Amino acid sequence: MKFETKIKIAAGAIILVMSTVAALPMIVNRQVTTVMSELRSASNVERLQLTLLELLLNAETAQRGFVITGNEGFLDPYHAAVLAIPATQEALRKEMKGANELARAVAIERATAAKMQTVARTVELRRRQGVAQAAAYITLGTGKVQMDLLRELIGKELGIYAQARADLGDQLLATSDSAATASLVATITNILFLAAVLAAAARVLRQRDEAERKAKAAAGQAQLTTERITLQNDLLFRSAELMHSLELAESTDESAGVIASYLPRLLPNLSGSLYLYNNSRDILERKAGWGDVEGEPDIIEALDCWALRRGSPHASGGGDGGLACRHLQNPEMDRLCLPLVTQGDVIGCLTVTGGGLVHGAEDQRAWIGQLAEQLGLALSNVRLRVSLRQQSIIDPLTQLYNRRYMDEVLKRELARSSRNGAPLSVLVLDLDHFKRINDTFGHEAGDAILRKVALTLRENIRSGDVACRMGGEEMVVLLPECGIENAIKRAETLRLAIAANDVLHQGQPIGATASIGVASYPEHGASVQALVHAADLALYEAKHSGRNRVRVAKCDPLATSALNALDDAAGI
Ligand code: GH3
Ligand code: MG
Ligand code: MG
Repeated sequence: MKFETKIKIAAGAIILVMSTVAALPMIVNRQVTTVMSELRSASNVERLQLTLLELLLNAETAQRGFVITGNEGFLDPYHAAVLAIPATQEALRKEMKGANELARAVAIERATAAKMQTVARTVELRRRQGVAQAAAYITLGTGKVQMDLLRELIGKELGIYAQARADLGDQLLATSDSAATASLVATITNILFLAAVLAAAARVLRQRDEAERKAKAAAGQAQLTTERITLQNDLLFRSAELMHSLELAESTDESAGVIASYLPRLLPNLSGSLYLYNNSRDILERKAGWGDVEGEPDIIEALDCWALRRGSPHASGGGDGGLACRHLQNPEMDRLCLPLVTQGDVIGCLTVTGGGLVHGAEDQRAWIGQLAEQLGLALSNVRLRVSLRQQSIIDPLTQLYNRRYMDEVLKRELARSSRNGAPLSVLVLDLDHFKRINDTFGHEAGDAILRKVALTLRENIRSGDVACRMGGEEMVVLLPECGIENAIKRAETLRLAIAANDVLHQGQPIGATASIGVASYPEHGASVQALVHAADLALYEAKHSGRNRVRVAKCDPLATSALNALDDAAGI
């Protein structure tokens, strides 16, 4: 049954009981009034019958006095009785309304009439025939018998009405008692009903409070879930963005920079560092950091980190001791170390610090774990891409850039120079009598010399310069933002260094010299082809001049403009 229905029923019951209680005095009053009226009536009957008896006795006494004395004055009570008796009888009839009462009243009336006739006859006999006749008539005893009958009748009536009065008194008491009892029962019932209603209302209020609390909790939970989903979507979106950016990274360092810019947003309220193995794989270098990473070491060793040793995530801190990595500055802090693993190969380590990271926050730990997996994969892709690119542009023997790369860079640098007007120089370099070296010492010795010359080139150029092997024993050095004067000096330095750097072959030092042709933009050509051609011509001249020397390209405006036209036609 619904609560509202129960309350309505209880309220109805209370109203009923209260109405009964309210009606009770009225009912009791009515009963009392009835009983009182019956009592009054009984008293009246008693009084009237006593009056009647008194009138009859008065009439008899008056008759006796008149008979003895003959004095009419004695008859006054008799006359009064003759007058009063009809009115008394009339009043009695009114009070004795029931069939039995009326029959008894009629019997008394008849007895009264007979008695009064006997008295009247006695009075008449005394007046007319004297005292003797009257006394003789009295002696007959008729009057006495009649009077005795009346006494008996009226006596009985008095007894009946005395009993009726006593009964009515008891009834009055019983009515009051039952009214009091009913009132008490009604009051107790009311109190019980009220208590039941209050208890039910209190229970329902409690239930409503509980339902409200649950509803609030459910609403809060729903909001939390929504916020969590929104946050997860946000994080997924950002991590997808990060992975996409990493696909475009051209080096591990660049990818570390990209990761450093994303991690504060991917792992908010946390701090950490990204460590990657160096090329020789003996230590890990800190490539990125975010949040409060003050004091984090720039370099760690694999043996210092349990995650790296085990190859699986390691948590430490969390207020319960545990195994702390040696690279941690503050081992008390909650910390997660996650190895970055790809195809079973550990390439680095992500360390994350933040309160509550070890105990609780399973979602967050799972998310960090996923992120570390994705980072490992993306970084290994970057490495693979970088290595493939290196392979495609690096000459494997000399580790110099290859011709393909040189064409690319030369075109780019020339475009840059033509835009900003900066000079650009090209050195074309060819080893002298290299065939002879090969023939004399063997191909391996020739290779060793090629490697040595390449090293010499790398060691004697700026970081922005590019050295490449064009093929065989011919090399090109590109010198961006370098005018002809400095280019000649650089070529001379290189020539001397090559000549000075021998290699040991079978315990015997062998070496080579180089001839170098120098050409500069804009003096010797405005296109790639024109510039390289001018440097080639200078190299040719160096060979013809006796080798192991530097020659500068000739400024030949006609040749240059003709070659430029050719370049334009070829779209270079
Ligand atoms: P020049 O002074 O006129 O340049 O004489 P050269 O002998 O250096 O010129 P030539 O072009 O006749 O010979 C180039 C030689 O370089 C031929 C080839 O055996 C050698 N060579 C080309 N590539 C390699 C290489 O990768 N390794 C070795 N060891 N030798 C190479
Ligand atoms: Mg040569
Ligand atoms: Mg050659």
